[in-house]
Amino acid sequence: MKLILLGPPGAGKGTQAANIVKEFAIPHISTGDIFRKNIKEGTELGVKAKSFIDSGKLVPDSLVCEIVEDRLSEEDCKEGFLLDGFPRTVFQAESLDKFLNENGKTLNKVVNIKVDPDLLVERAVGRRICKSCGATYHIKYNPSKVEGVCDLCDGELYQRSDDVAETVENRIKVYIDETSPLIDYYTKKEILIDIDGQQDIDKVYKDISVALKG
Ligand code: ADP
Ligand code: ADP
Ligand code: ZN
Repeated sequence: MKLILLGPPGAGKGTQAANIVKEFAIPHISTGDIFRKNIKEGTELGVKAKSFIDSGKLVPDSLVCEIVEDRLSEEDCKEGFLLDGFPRTVFQAESLDKFLNENGKTLNKVVNIKVDPDLLVERAVGRRICKSCGATYHIKYNPSKVEGVCDLCDGELYQRSDDVAETVENRIKVYIDETSPLIDYYTKKEILIDIDGQQDIDKVYKDISVALKG
């Protein structure tokens, strides 16, 4: 299964990705996670990406496409993959199509998680992430059993530096301007599935699972 998860910041892509990759046994490729890892490790890519991410802008296409192509060329992506947070521009989508074409592959589905923009800031600002395993929580909607501690691995939870209201608002604007045209792009290819992301986390997943198996 070759899949893309589409949706504004805070829609629930990372949360649902964890369920999808478990059920369909495919690797989870999150460009945001790749950038955060590079920033933490102080790599050249991390240094280049940091200022864009901290101001809520997109990292330039030229930096993103190559990383994704390299990752998709690895052995574990042969049978399938889940792209989370990529593509985010029409340029990236076209470049991905070209790459997949050249490698004799086609996308199966694009899962579009829909959430009203008014709800996104609260979701992103309340997000907490495990430093050790990357699990995602929400202080109100999906709290860990012990505050600040991961249920899965006892790791420490932290708040992303770009999950502050002003930056989240910028990211939502950037999503509307640069990423939302992809809804049309994949609708035309007849592979887009709309999912109501305003339901409970479990119900959202049920809808995704049914749609992907149908
Ligand atoms: P994205 O990867 O799209 O930015 P996340 O999966 O990280 O989104 O979710 C953003 C925040 O909203 C997290 O704190 C997560 O726990 C919470 N969340 C995800 N899905 C739901 C939902 N259906 N209802 C309420 N909160 C949710
Ligand atoms: P969210 O889950 O809130 O949607 P991500 O973790 O996917 O956020 O991305 C965090 C930041 O990393 C983005 O705001 C952007 O600066 C950068 N980024 C991630 N993926 C891409 C991409 N495909 N193109 C450009 N920038 C990206
Ligand atoms: Zn953890």
